[in-house]
Amino acid sequence: MVFHKRFVHYYLKYGLFLLLGILALFAVDYGQLKVPELYKYVVNGMNDGVVEIGGATVAFDMDFLLDKICKPLIFVVITVCGGRFLWRYCFFGAAVRVETDIRKRMFDHCKDLSQQFYHFNKVGDLMSLFTNDVDTIQDSFGGGVLTFFDALLLGGLAFTKMLHMNKMLTALSMLPMIILFLMALLIGYFMTKTWDKRQEAFSRLSDFAQESFSGIAVIKAFTKEVKELMAFRKLNKENEKINIKFTRISTLMNILFILFVESVICVIIGYGGYLVYNGTFKAGELVEFISYFTTIIWPIEAVSILIEMTARAKASCKRVDNFLTADIDVKDKEGIDNKERNIKGEIEFKNLNFTYPNSEMQVLTDVSFKINAGENVGLIGKTGAGKTTIVDLIARTYMVDDGKIFVDGEDVNEIPIKELRRHIAYVPQDNFLFSDTIASNIAFSKEDSSDKEAIKEAAVLSDVDSNIMEFPLEYETILGERGVTVSGGQKQRISIARALMKNAEILILDDSVSAVDTKTERIILNNLATTRKGKTTILIAHRISTIERMDKIIFIDDGKVLDVGTHKELIERNKDYAEMVKSQMLEDKEAKEEEKDA
Ligand code: ADP
Repeated sequence: MVFHKRFVHYYLKYGLFLLLGILALFAVDYGQLKVPELYKYVVNGMNDGVVEIGGATVAFDMDFLLDKICKPLIFVVITVCGGRFLWRYCFFGAAVRVETDIRKRMFDHCKDLSQQFYHFNKVGDLMSLFTNDVDTIQDSFGGGVLTFFDALLLGGLAFTKMLHMNKMLTALSMLPMIILFLMALLIGYFMTKTWDKRQEAFSRLSDFAQESFSGIAVIKAFTKEVKELMAFRKLNKENEKINIKFTRISTLMNILFILFVESVICVIIGYGGYLVYNGTFKAGELVEFISYFTTIIWPIEAVSILIEMTARAKASCKRVDNFLTADIDVKDKEGIDNKERNIKGEIEFKNLNFTYPNSEMQVLTDVSFKINAGENVGLIGKTGAGKTTIVDLIARTYMVDDGKIFVDGEDVNEIPIKELRRHIAYVPQDNFLFSDTIASNIAFSKEDSSDKEAIKEAAVLSDVDSNIMEFPLEYETILGERGVTVSGGQKQRISIARALMKNAEILILDDSVSAVDTKTERIILNNLATTRKGKTTILIAHRISTIERMDKIIFIDDGKVLDVGTHKELIERNKDYAEMVKSQMLEDKEAKEEEKDA
């Protein structure tokens, strides 16, 4: 990926590192190319007893060996070792820093992307971006610059030396290498195509594995382990097939390489032997030439590696680039007032119509209602009526038109998202808990989790304290991924405690007491009524019994507000609401009778 446009500035950012690495590389390559010359002196000295050096003929004795062979050799070894250490540090050090920078930028971008983005992009895919693709970019950044300059310096120096020694022999040895190089380009093209497919196959596999792990409870409950296993095997097989194809092409490349290199060595020995025979070359010079040729093999190989590496990294860069340039569709309007607001909690919807981005169906139609600051409000309606959408819009999870939603009389689009959310505590349906202690989960909205009393108080209010105290480490108990060590009801109550701890002016609970029994539900609701006096609370519920005592009930169906009023008012004037109350009472009665019979 040498010099890919999106990452080109990193070459400047770490320019000093790279420059130092290139200098070290030059020293190493230069030192390395001194060795064939020393071979020449040794072979010629052993054959003739004398050595020609710098135009003079000197005796090949112990002094010569120590002075002209051993000393330079020690110097070369020290230069090569020191230089190798330095370029490794410089190139790979820069690459690791680039990797960290890119990951940081990606993670920064993650937090700005809207919920809709995560709705459409699978976790496995995103994980593969953060791991596979960033690794590939890292590899090719350090390895790419290294390979490029190594090929250029070592290849250039060795080629110059070969040319200087014998033009014909150089032409004979380089011609097949040019053919090999062209073949490598062609094979590299196929390798790149296969690499893309390989990444896609891996992405599919990681997606599937991730989803299976998350949904393991459902898979087990429906005894679909075998079906899942078969599906996994199929994806794994596809992954295997594409990997085998990739390995086959790269093996073919290797074999061709060995074949060509060995053939060229035969040619050099044949023609070079002839040159020794007719006196143009000495045996030592032939050895020197062969050494240069074996040195030049790597730069030639490096060019094909570089092409393949570049193509691979380009594919990864493109994916990372697409991610980094993914539109932040929920953002603050330019020029809005960033001042802190003292939000009281009045919420008003005015004739709001809403359609989800990437969807054609309008899910809210002409929604209007007003919640006064400090009111306790119930939002009720059938599944799919639009309740979650309404509360999501209060928290600005999606963009709405101007003049449709107001908080404390100010258009939500005029309030910075961060500032608005600072005043909202939200318990979403998916009561996600982090793999951390219960205390840290409850104190999530706070900078630290040291206020033990406040944490306990929030847990008492959400009626989960006694459960927590039964855990071996009480509040210090670590929850497994997605809180698997606690029951659904406990999870809901810990999530409520987390929201209560924030003590925000607006509290939204989306179906948050559905997994607790009626007695616990009553305790929580009573606690909410007392502790949140003067603050706005919106509670989404399916059961009328959950919200019947609230100050106001917003009754919605099919994306429309059917009525707003107290429970008593709605029963009296709204036929549909009264009907719902009747049918729920009947259901409750039947459930109680069934319980008794059992
Ligand atoms: P409720 O909370 O009352 O059960 P929702 O607000 O979740 O209802 O959903 C209302 C409608 O919006 C449903 O038809 C649902 O399929 C649709 N919907 C919900 N989320 C999305 C989304 N991210 N993209 C497109 N449609 C959605």
